[in-house]
Amino acid sequence: FTVILILCYHSKSFFLVNHQIYRYNHFMKRTLVISTPENVGKSILLKGWVNSVRGHGKLVFFDLRDRSGLVQVIAENLDVVLKPEYVIAVTGKVVKRPGKLANDKLETGQVEIQAKKIDIITQSKELPIPVTGDGHDINEEMRMKYRYLDLRRPRMNRNIKTRSKTVKFIRDYLTNHDFVEIETPILTKTTPEGARDFLVPSRLQAGKFYALPQSPQQYKQLLMVAGFERYFQFAKCFRDEDPRADRAYGEFTQLDIEMSFVTQEDILQLTEKMFTSLVKEIFPEKKIQQTPWPRISHSEAQKKYGSDKPDLRKDKKDPNELAFAWTLDFPLFNKQSKEDYFHGSGNAQFAPSHHMFTSPHPDDVHLLDKDPLKVRGLQHDLVLNGFEVGGGSIRIHDSKVQEKIFELIGFTKEQKQEFTHMLTAFQYGVPPHGGIAPGIDRLLMVLYGEPNLREVMAFPTISSGQTAVLNAPSIPTPEQLKELHLKSIK
Ligand code: ASP
Repeated sequence: FTVILILCYHSKSFFLVNHQIYRYNHFMKRTLVISTPENVGKSILLKGWVNSVRGHGKLVFFDLRDRSGLVQVIAENLDVVLKPEYVIAVTGKVVKRPGKLANDKLETGQVEIQAKKIDIITQSKELPIPVTGDGHDINEEMRMKYRYLDLRRPRMNRNIKTRSKTVKFIRDYLTNHDFVEIETPILTKTTPEGARDFLVPSRLQAGKFYALPQSPQQYKQLLMVAGFERYFQFAKCFRDEDPRADRAYGEFTQLDIEMSFVTQEDILQLTEKMFTSLVKEIFPEKKIQQTPWPRISHSEAQKKYGSDKPDLRKDKKDPNELAFAWTLDFPLFNKQSKEDYFHGSGNAQFAPSHHMFTSPHPDDVHLLDKDPLKVRGLQHDLVLNGFEVGGGSIRIHDSKVQEKIFELIGFTKEQKQEFTHMLTAFQYGVPPHGGIAPGIDRLLMVLYGEPNLREVMAFPTISSGQTAVLNAPSIPTPEQLKELHLKSIK
């Protein structure tokens, strides 16, 4: 007992802190702002941020913000100074606002809190950027530097939360349809999708590099050889290509799907049903213009609209109109320069219009030798309001056809060797298979009507390649370089 007394005496602050935690956690549980209307007449404890303060002196009004929303608090004779973005604990009574003073714009607008006690948990300096407006007019570098503040604005908060709901909906939908979610490696070997690779030097094997995946394309096909039959994952893909409004620099997330024993029709049906239910559930205010989704051949799209991703909305001013469509019957190859296709390989004549694992249309296989540019591929592109929000194909499952494609795109012997594992795998009982990969960021960008992908990503990279907040890339130390067997030359 003496020991305990002495300990208590010597750690008075510890004791006090504990006492406070005890008081808050045991006598009064925290109530979320959103449930204040159910607690009229009761004393409650709220915790959150000061959103805005009005009035001073004897009577102060402010909005308290937590993850669930905003509520108005009234404090009389405050003994502390409250400033925006302070983190506080408020003990007080929930009272009904007189009819006239109710605020319909706020979910908790029919009540307010009469504060009895306010504790400042942490203070906040004046914010470098405002967080109450939509933020579109603020310099983007500032928004990225202080992204953790930028994410406080209601628009960004909504975007990120709805993204989470969207991902959950898809995960539930697919697992209910017998799909297995499987992660594939990030440190891997090149999987060309037409962009430049990001390379990671190996410390253990001097002079060798991993490539970050441009997509899990090879792994998902190997998972079909492994017998899973129905796979999906929310896959991070890495592509070192110049950014555009609808193309993130560096990394993005795609919903990667692969199925065995299916036709192209099965893939289109699954995607169409899943996204139709998603829109109904998560974006009920949106209207899908036409079901079943219109299908258009690549050549017809080019002729009629001058684009393989036509915007088929009847009323382009209506933010709630969704015009999904499929573009089909792409040519298997484009005539392209090797830089445009696969950096450091391929030849100048034929480049895969999708990727090199896409199956030629069975009716056109005989043209592979005679006239490759006439061969159609079993590719499907998912279009939404003029954006390509996904692509996929039925794959080649015949190693001879795959070898033929390698030849046509001009792979050297060494380049072919880089992909022998695929040809080898296909010798041990490969099911016919195919899939699709809708871009999650791009889909959400279009669904929200946001001007660019960064508005739906928590910590995006800006066009100069600089990452939000952490400001990568950075210069490695000489020791790091040495360990990686690298020398930096200017
Ligand atoms: N891997 C492809 C892509 O990223 C999608 C697919 O073929 O499933 O575009």
